Amino acid sequence: MSAVSDLIWPPRSLLSDKLVDRPGVIEPELWGALHFLGAPQCCRCGFPLPEEVGETAVCGACAGREPAYDTARAALAYDDHARRLVLDLKRGGRRDGLPVFARWMAAASSDALQRADFIAPAPMHWTRLAMRSFNQAAWLAEALSHASGKPWKPGALTRAKRRKSQAGLSASERRRNVAGAIKASWRFQGKTILVVDDVFTTGATLEACARAFRRAGAAEVHAVTLARVVRPMDILV
Ligand SMILES: [Zn+2]
Repeated sequence: MSAVSDLIWPPRSLLSDKLVDRPGVIEPELWGALHFLGAPQCCRCGFPLPEEVGETAVCGACAGREPAYDTARAALAYDDHARRLVLDLKRGGRRDGLPVFARWMAAASSDALQRADFIAPAPMHWTRLAMRSFNQAAWLAEALSHASGKPWKPGALTRAKRRKSQAGLSASERRRNVAGAIKASWRFQGKTILVVDDVFTTGATLEACARAFRRAGAAEVHAVTLARVVRPMDILV
């Protein structure tokens, strides 16, 4: 199928309209523009910390309010380039970047991925799923499963009630909006789970996923996203 579509639409770079030799690649000139996240970072939420602070340092937000997940990591800072990748994926349904996104997410979450019994996507409510016809978090989780060999369970979490769009809401409004909306489908006694989503904005969705898995008996819940908001000003866009 992809060979046929390549004949009709030649592959284009994930970050520009430039023609490339195969799908899912980025031209070398734009590689340096991607902002990959890594140490030094908050050991819980992965927020970048300004200087070498040691592996157990936590950011102010996590020190003030402990997150429900054990760790959250993201491959990229959510800037203009990451926004393009995310919007092409979730609004455009563009799938050719998934193998490379999975490799980035596997590198960002390598410890948690190794420990995990399985991977689970953040759930989307069925009415939204019906409108959009796909859940980009499930695509990312499936790609990460292929890249790592870990099983993935697409139905492990369900979104029980329709929520308002998170756009434009503050962190506490987002937490209230998703609180109780996400439920685990079965018992996951003693399991270590890696939850996958496209963007860590305030962490409210991943918090709700982690709480649901903990209520279902999970021992550890980790999270990984393709991108993460690192400046509050990016939350509203
Ligand atoms: Zn933190």
